[in-house]
Amino acid sequence: MKKIYIDTLGCQMNKSDTERILGMLSHFNWERCENEDEADLFLVNTCAIRQLSVDKAYSRLGNWGRIKKEKKQQGKTVKIGICGCVAQLEKEKIFKKFPYVDLIFGTRNIFELPKLLEKIDNERVCEINDMPLEENDYQIIRDKSTNAWLPIMEGCDNFCSYCVVPYTRGRERSREIKDIIKEAKEIIAQGYREITLLGQNVDSYGKNLEGNQNFARLLKELDNLEGNFRIRFTSSYPTDITDEVIDVVKNSKKICECFHIPMQSGNDRILKAMNRRYSVSEYKNIVQKIRNNIKDVTITSDFIAGFPSETEEEFYDTIKAIDELELDYSNTASYSPRPITKAGKMENQFIDEDEKKRRLQILNEKVKNASLKSNEKYIGKTLEVLIDGINKGVYQGRTRNNKVVHILDDNKYNIGDFVFVTIEKVSTWCMFAKKLNN
Ligand code: SF4
Repeated sequence: MKKIYIDTLGCQMNKSDTERILGMLSHFNWERCENEDEADLFLVNTCAIRQLSVDKAYSRLGNWGRIKKEKKQQGKTVKIGICGCVAQLEKEKIFKKFPYVDLIFGTRNIFELPKLLEKIDNERVCEINDMPLEENDYQIIRDKSTNAWLPIMEGCDNFCSYCVVPYTRGRERSREIKDIIKEAKEIIAQGYREITLLGQNVDSYGKNLEGNQNFARLLKELDNLEGNFRIRFTSSYPTDITDEVIDVVKNSKKICECFHIPMQSGNDRILKAMNRRYSVSEYKNIVQKIRNNIKDVTITSDFIAGFPSETEEEFYDTIKAIDELELDYSNTASYSPRPITKAGKMENQFIDEDEKKRRLQILNEKVKNASLKSNEKYIGKTLEVLIDGINKGVYQGRTRNNKVVHILDDNKYNIGDFVFVTIEKVSTWCMFAKKLNN
């Protein structure tokens, strides 16, 4: 067996791609290694969402370049590859920057990898194209965990002004319901207890498909599958969430009560500049509608601090929105210009780095307080937890609405067990339960 050392940066979609790459390569006599010293091939699966992620990818290439040189002196050939969003954007330019890189392939070329690996014995290869998502029957080597990622679509048509995804992952393409159901059945048969459906905008699932295939129908069909498992999904675009989807989540047994709905800013002018297709009040209405219909639902979000031209007052509109909306948790980031995007070209309006950092700190404080407040609502409540880890005698798991729970209990439970616990106390990021009720 040849050994591949693979580093995955960025989002769950990249993690899922890595699982597909490893599964496919196992049919061609490759296996993953955890030790760089054993590698015949180094591969970094990259993220281009922020400059920091791009720098991380390049630093991996730099390290591996040094290892490759050392190995060559010892008479061993090692190859270096890069894939994912940075590869898709930068293409051959990477060869110029890193002359020791052997292989560059794009987000839509992963199924060509076995063929590309044969080619790099004799030449450097750059393969980037715009093919639609391809299905193949190779096994997928998933992470050993309770949760399995299941991509339902790829790409995005929204072109938010700060985002590289439409350029790196291309236009939106959904997989057929029958293929998703087939993969879900395999996941369940392998013993996974949670399936997380992935898509940049899950609510527009099915737009390119025939026969009334939409997200609500997909959820319904998945909910009807036999087995003891949960279904999650991410991410939702506020104004694309339909009443039908809310209804399906409300009435289902397996779909978790949890929506990740990036808001990005609490100010209408900034939302417009971001090319987000909703106003603050429309966002509030959808949050309210979900809460009115689904008991104990958590709503999480994403926010950007220091978008070009954002004034102090506009920034504080975001802080106000987090308070008013009582969001359960939010991911935050300071704005990172991506040159290919519309916002990346607003150079004269960029906010100073120190100021962005200051705003981000304020935002993070607000998110911390909101998270604690959200957790406090559950003190004394009994919730179902899926155990996904055990550390020094403390069981860890997640509730249906995705809260992390630490459980102190003398009973022996296994990873993958569903248990009911009563929440006794909480901290900012997790909840604590001492006694199991079952
Ligand atoms: S909806 Fe999300 S993935 Fe699509 S362009 Fe906007 S931020 Fe990027």
